[in-house]
Amino acid sequence: MRRIIPSILSILGISAIVTIAAPNPHPNIVFIFSDDHSLQTIGAYDARLSEFCKKQKVTPNLDRLAAAGGLFVNSFCGNSLCSPSRASVLTGLHSHSNGVMLLDHPIAPGVWTFPGNLRDAGYQTAVIGKWHLASTRPTTDYWRILPGQGTYWHPDLIGPDGKEKEAHKGYTTDILTDMGLDWLQHRDKTKPFMLMLQHKAPHRPWIPPTRYYQWLADVKIPEPESLFDDYSGRGSPAHNQKMEIAKQMTLNEDLKLPVNAKSPGENNRMTDAERADWQAAFGPRNESFAKANLQGRELTRWKYQEYMKDYLRCIKAVDDSVGRVLDYLKAEGLDGNTVVIYSADQGFYNGEHGWFDKRWIYEESIHMPFIVRWPGVVKPGTRFIPMVQNIDYAATFVDIAGGKVPEGLHGRSFAPILRGQTPADWRKSVYYHYYDGGHSVARHYGVRTDRYTLAHFYQTDEWELYDLQKDPQQMRSVYSQPAYAKTVVELKAELERLRKQYKDSPDLDPPDRSKKTTSASEKKSS
Ligand code: CA
Repeated sequence: MRRIIPSILSILGISAIVTIAAPNPHPNIVFIFSDDHSLQTIGAYDARLSEFCKKQKVTPNLDRLAAAGGLFVNSFCGNSLCSPSRASVLTGLHSHSNGVMLLDHPIAPGVWTFPGNLRDAGYQTAVIGKWHLASTRPTTDYWRILPGQGTYWHPDLIGPDGKEKEAHKGYTTDILTDMGLDWLQHRDKTKPFMLMLQHKAPHRPWIPPTRYYQWLADVKIPEPESLFDDYSGRGSPAHNQKMEIAKQMTLNEDLKLPVNAKSPGENNRMTDAERADWQAAFGPRNESFAKANLQGRELTRWKYQEYMKDYLRCIKAVDDSVGRVLDYLKAEGLDGNTVVIYSADQGFYNGEHGWFDKRWIYEESIHMPFIVRWPGVVKPGTRFIPMVQNIDYAATFVDIAGGKVPEGLHGRSFAPILRGQTPADWRKSVYYHYYDGGHSVARHYGVRTDRYTLAHFYQTDEWELYDLQKDPQQMRSVYSQPAYAKTVVELKAELERLRKQYKDSPDLDPPDRSKKTTSASEKKSS
């Protein structure tokens, strides 16, 4: 916004005013947040599939958002799972302090969340889409949330008056976008706004919209080098997990087989006509798969290709959503005064180590994409290097809105970094603690620095250390190598410092659910 500021000349009695551009102290905020979108499947990043994504135009709108603003190369979560990450975003606290250590738990009563702060500061606020925090309800002026994981088609929604069953017909990513734009159109235009548009996609079971059924059908997705990882060089947790494409990815639900399946997924609510479109698109593929009788590595390779295609098709629809929001802001003249942020609740494995899903402190799952456009503040094309974490989002949003960040948060505003001024005492490491146990991933806490990842799998008292400079794919723990003895001592001290700073302790661990049968939690994995 342009503000007319009297110049020093007028104070001196010289009749002149100077018009300068100054950032609005209360810019609008649009936070687009997706579910399980890996950083490596965004063209604008420099990650494994970025070149592929650029070439195939998987994320053209996210790429244009990044080009007009900046992206964070070192953006991390503190607990790589849906509900815990969302709770950390809202509260500015690590899991052990906000009550959401496990999947689908509510935020502890009385814990501060940032949207209420913005609302009280005069913003119009809304949450639309995926929420996944059990009985916790948004404190925004307007909210419509998906129950639990939500569905890919004809979604139920929950609002202040209860559940709206199949209130909206169509593909969920598109419906949520329609609702977001509708809310923007009918908002009180005298106030700044903060919209959280939170997609279910591209979460498992990766059901794409009809318009992308055939897209990428004849394209080969690059395989990761570690697709057939045997986990030698790591401890028992990597051997004991149950999140492998080869073993745990299901042919029927995840890969939409067999040919005559009534439903291509547990979340499917297709009409007969929509199901006919599905069969027309996927029937021939399924028939040729049945004839090929693939086994062993060839079967895994096929699964990887088909999983990735559906995953990217879902992402393409999310990217369409981003494009529609950007176009709307531009058409309404709001783009110059609106901070647009894109992020996802954690990273995801796209075949690296043979895996899908997330949960680990390892690279693909601890990273979160974070792209931000803030006209007049963030220099176009900036690649931010400082380490930020999901616990920082709440303070950052309050800071951007010109509000007062409360005391006692674990996170810290990185608005100064956006403005080009990284504080001298900015963090050099991030703390991580995973508890849930789904997919048989063992509990662990650890620390990630610019060069190292140190993890403690404390149920079996196993330690791992990775040197990211020499082993970026984390194939071999060097914890026991004498050359790293000093590093281990230093990192353990740093980890202990962080555990004290955040007041984490073994007494705070929730009951261990890992002994339960894993099938239910795997099916519902977030
Ligand atoms: Ca998620």
